[in-house]
Amino acid sequence: MTVRLSRRVTRMQPSASIAAKQRVTELQAQGKEIIDFTIGEPDMDTPAHIVQGAIDAMRGGDTHYTPTAGVAPLRQAIADKLRRDAGHDYTAAQVIVGSGAKQLINESFAATLDDGDEVIVPAPYWVSYPDIVTLYDGVPVVVPTTAANDFKLTPQALAAALTPRTRWVVLNAPGNPGGAIYTRDELRALADVLAGHPEVMVMTDDIYEYLAYDQHRHVNLVAAAPELAARTLLINGFSKSYAMTGWRIGYAAGPQALINAMGKLIGQSTTCVSSIAQAGALTALKGDQEFIEETRQVYEHRRDVMHKAVSAIPGVDCRLPQGAFYLFPSVQALLGKRTPGGQVVADDRDLVMYLLDEAGVAVMDGSAYGMPGHLRLSFATSLQTIERGCARMAQACARLA
Ligand code: PMP
Repeated sequence: MTVRLSRRVTRMQPSASIAAKQRVTELQAQGKEIIDFTIGEPDMDTPAHIVQGAIDAMRGGDTHYTPTAGVAPLRQAIADKLRRDAGHDYTAAQVIVGSGAKQLINESFAATLDDGDEVIVPAPYWVSYPDIVTLYDGVPVVVPTTAANDFKLTPQALAAALTPRTRWVVLNAPGNPGGAIYTRDELRALADVLAGHPEVMVMTDDIYEYLAYDQHRHVNLVAAAPELAARTLLINGFSKSYAMTGWRIGYAAGPQALINAMGKLIGQSTTCVSSIAQAGALTALKGDQEFIEETRQVYEHRRDVMHKAVSAIPGVDCRLPQGAFYLFPSVQALLGKRTPGGQVVADDRDLVMYLLDEAGVAVMDGSAYGMPGHLRLSFATSLQTIERGCARMAQACARLA
């Protein structure tokens, strides 16, 4: 018998980054030496004191279900952090903990979208936003940005995309994959557009908040536009800041009714986040924060090295990203060329396959992020890997004619 799948799951795309990771693992298992620039997570291990916090919790019998929204001390610690960063008094009850930021994004759309409701997603976007919107019957409204504007949504583009069906605008800064970081003035300008649309909610995904380079620093939307607090859902987590991707823990803060609805959904799906991960997250917030600045500097140096190497490849045009840990170069000038085997590299997906086969370098296609003609290269990997991978890419690109 063939299993009849739901319309809901049939219209979903598998996660492009998870698929890429699988492909790299398969090739590596076949004995091929693949340099992996698809990585979407810190390459460092979780700091030892955080691991110890989780071990202590387990040994101390912290091995039971917790309240659905998370344990009180953790929610309070998150509220305290947001008071410092967002300058807004969230109560602990307005904070909810989930199994990664991704679960909370799912629950917030599940809690608010009905058939045909629109969600504005600036492109290039993190692959999952449009797919999660679609999963919950919403319609992603993709709004392109430009490299010249550091991949940031402009007030004009936002104004043009808003319709009576708009339920949400998604902002992600520092952005994956474009590295966009909005200044306070830019956030104010977006908020001024939203002032005319009081029914529209804003999701700000701040998961890369500390990964900001040069003079750029992440500004919290609610700090720049306090009047939006009542209709903003802050999404954040521990995955990138504290190298805790495998722990699966993130958080959201926002209007009480929405947080309650999200809690209802979590109560019927995962029940709560692992008590052990919550203990680790609490240790992360309460403990030494040195790791954050140390790793920020490591990434900044890697960014510079990779940017220099990639920019030196003829046909590759790369903006220096302001934040996060990806380069997002245009490869438009390489498209239409032929491989040594005579095949035409028609688009960014062909180029990804060519680089994988010819150079043994795995990168992501810009099409997956809503911006064809680009590649995404992660610098969350060692300097040595960056140098070797870029050299191999340069050689492979030079063989295109
Ligand atoms: N938002 C963005 C922009 C991301 O890049 C990612 C991870 N790739 C997430 C959310 C998901 O984070 P988490 O591990 O907390 O689910």
